[in-house]
Order: sequence, then structure tokens, then C-alpha cells
Amino acid sequence: MKALQEKIVTEGKVLSDTVLKVDSFLNHQIDPHLMKQIGEEFAARYQEAGVTKIITIESSGIAPATMAGLIMNVPVVFARKRKSLTLSENLYTAKVHSFTKKETNEISISGDFIQQDDVVLIIDDFLANGQAVLGLLDMIEQAGARLAGVGIVIEKGFQSGGQLIRGRGIRVDSLAIVASLQNGKVEFMEETSTL
Ligand code: 5GP
Repeated sequence: MKALQEKIVTEGKVLSDTVLKVDSFLNHQIDPHLMKQIGEEFAARYQEAGVTKIITIESSGIAPATMAGLIMNVPVVFARKRKSLTLSENLYTAKVHSFTKKETNEISISGDFIQQDDVVLIIDDFLANGQAVLGLLDMIEQAGARLAGVGIVIEKGFQSGGQLIRGRGIRVDSLAIVASLQNGKVEFMEETSTL
């Protein structure tokens, strides 16, 4: 996605050889126009997939997931990272180790919001080592729902997540794939096939 690549180049900050900061449009301040384009792109790619629900993880997956849900006319569920007082029974849970925060969270989704007959599209902001996506996949499996694929805004192609998830035969659509962050510079990979 050209507009996304341009935004990453003009506003992204390379914090190290492995971490890209995109706080001005995705992870803190949100650019609604870009999010709308991202939602449209996911919706176009998955229009034939029979998606009934989008699942993401709080907090930075919520904006792109909601835009896609609006355009695809399906509900959006976000996995919670913190225990909620009102969310205590009938839960699916999974453990997720965060690459950026170096901590493990137990994430959860209420059983009320994923059904066995759902066809799920996972959407998240970043794909690094794939732990967040694996946690979401685990809960979708627990629910017995079907997976349409995984939509990622920014994949770091030099980390292992893409290979890990695609290696399971899962469709992954990344709208920008970063090949390298070395020497403070963002290099992109050409968009590849989704599997
Ligand atoms: P994974 O589970 O694939 O290792 O990491 C995915 C999560 O870590 C994303 O949801 C995102 O919140 C965070 N993350 C991983 N790498 C980066 C990065 O380079 N920049 C930012 N802003 N977040 C990242």
C-alpha cells in the first residue's frame, strides 16, 4: 500500500535495528483517513472470504480493525490484555509474550463473542515474532471457529512471525513489509504472495 509506505517513511522513527515507532498515525495519535484506506484494503482483499467477525488485540489493533469491520459490515472483537471485573466467566484465554514490552500477558475474549460458525479475520498493527497472532489463533481454535486469514498493517519481514504463521498454511496479508531498519533507514520488501 503506497500511502502507508509513504507515511512510514515520512513519520516513522527507527528506534533501533528492530523497532519502528509509528506513534503519529497508528500507535498513539491515529490518522483516521489512513485507517479508512487500510480498512478498505483489507475489505477488498477479503471480500470473497465470507468473514463474519474481525478479531484484534487491544489497543493498537482496534483502529484498523474497526475501519475494516465498518466497511465489511461485521462486528469487531478485541482481546483484552487486562482482567476485567465484568469479564470473568465463559472466557477463552491465551498467553502472549510482548516483543516491545518484554512481558507476558494473559489475553482473553468472552465466549459470547466468538461462535463455532464464525469465519474470523484477525487484524493487528504489527507482526514481529508472531506471538500476538498465535495467541489469537489459539482462542479461535478453542471456540471451534474458522479462520479466513490474518491482516497486518506493518510486518517486520526480518523477524520470524511471518514465516511462523504462513508456515502453518495460514493466509497472511501485510499492507507494508519492512525488510530492514538498519542504519536508521526503513527498507521495504515488495509485496509478496499471501501464503
Ligand atoms: P509479535 O507478537 O508479532 O512479536 O509482536 C506483535 C505486537 O508487538 C504488535 O501488536 C505490536 O504492538 C508490538 N510490536 C512489535 N514490533 C513492533 C515495532 O517495531 N513497533 C511497534 N510500534 N510495535 C511493535
